[in-house]
Amino acid sequence: MSIQLFVPTFRVDECLKEIKECLEKGWTGLGYKTIEFEDKWKDYTKLPNAHFINSATAGLHLAVKILKDEYKWDEGDEIISTPLTFISTNHAIAYEKLNIVFADVDKYLCLDPIDVRKKITKKTKAIMYVGLGGNTGQYKEIVDICKEYDLKLILDAAHMSGTRLNGEIVGKEADVVIYSFQAVKNLPTADSGMICFKEKKLDDIARKFSWLGINKDTYSRSLDNGTYKWRYDVDYLGYKYHGNSIMASIALVQLRYLDKDNAYRRQIASWYDEAFKYHKNLVKPVPVSKGCESSRHLYIIEVNNRDELLVALNLNDIYPGVHYRDNTEYSVYSYGKGTCPNAHRLSSRIISLPLHLRLTKDDVEEISNNVIKLASSIKED
Ligand SMILES: *Cc1c(COP(=O)(O)O)cnc(C)c1O
Repeated sequence: MSIQLFVPTFRVDECLKEIKECLEKGWTGLGYKTIEFEDKWKDYTKLPNAHFINSATAGLHLAVKILKDEYKWDEGDEIISTPLTFISTNHAIAYEKLNIVFADVDKYLCLDPIDVRKKITKKTKAIMYVGLGGNTGQYKEIVDICKEYDLKLILDAAHMSGTRLNGEIVGKEADVVIYSFQAVKNLPTADSGMICFKEKKLDDIARKFSWLGINKDTYSRSLDNGTYKWRYDVDYLGYKYHGNSIMASIALVQLRYLDKDNAYRRQIASWYDEAFKYHKNLVKPVPVSKGCESSRHLYIIEVNNRDELLVALNLNDIYPGVHYRDNTEYSVYSYGKGTCPNAHRLSSRIISLPLHLRLTKDDVEEISNNVIKLASSIKED
């Protein structure tokens, strides 16, 4: 049997029950379950606002766009970001014609506060922080830098559903937090996400922007007597970014199990840790920072012979992944090449091992035995 990187688990009967309610009611769109899920998400995260959207990519774009408008940033102003992320993170900045200044990563594969400080200029407006794999890295230091330099903090929490730092869901310090509930994330739906602004005013704006700039959603209009439903105003040139009740149905069920699922992810990670404990010369797991209870979306190791190891594992029917390639290796971001040596080096040395709820202890043993057998102790050139 082959072992895949990610296999999402759905509580099928519970999901179908929620979806059936939508179909029977005749309400699959914006409102209804999307509102119910937003309320449950606020209860769970203790974040003050939450707006359900159709992807984290859409949310990241909204975050940058709305902050740019609100704080009157100009084209060419700068946001410091990481090169070791999914391209959505950086595309969101580029969509708004702001300059991405890449800063290097630390041993957690998250932004390194020391390099971030070096990259601050008069034009810097915000820091885009990614909690890679669910890790908080040096988040607190980044929060301090934002306070010191009066920068906005955007938290790409696509991997961080359920991540806690010192016992609290991470993110309350950020100006905006964006989650992904894409098909293979640790809270999987099919495609959806959440944008959580600290300020209520910006949450209101996000709700309009995510539905083409229309200033009242269908559901709340239908609660009025309905006569003037069509007479809405259009405040902004908005986008079609909001989520729907079918995705929210699945998300509602997933949220019930999130803490339990993440605990099993951490169990898997600790089995891997145990297996690699005496093989530090071959396999270096990326550490989780102190005080972080990671969602464990990813289990990443650093090895000397990454490309060969990937091929060898595939031949053994094990299919790991890579998170991520240094974004400055892509043509669109090649202007950043050479600015983040640590990210560049690690990008050719990291592998994400299979991590999902269907894996057993035996699977983890089989994977780690293969990794230890096939990882090479040959030093890098
Ligand atoms: C998956 C991912 C996104 C985009 O999420 P979608 O919901 O698929 O748009 C953004 N940032 C990171 C770090 C991701 O892994």
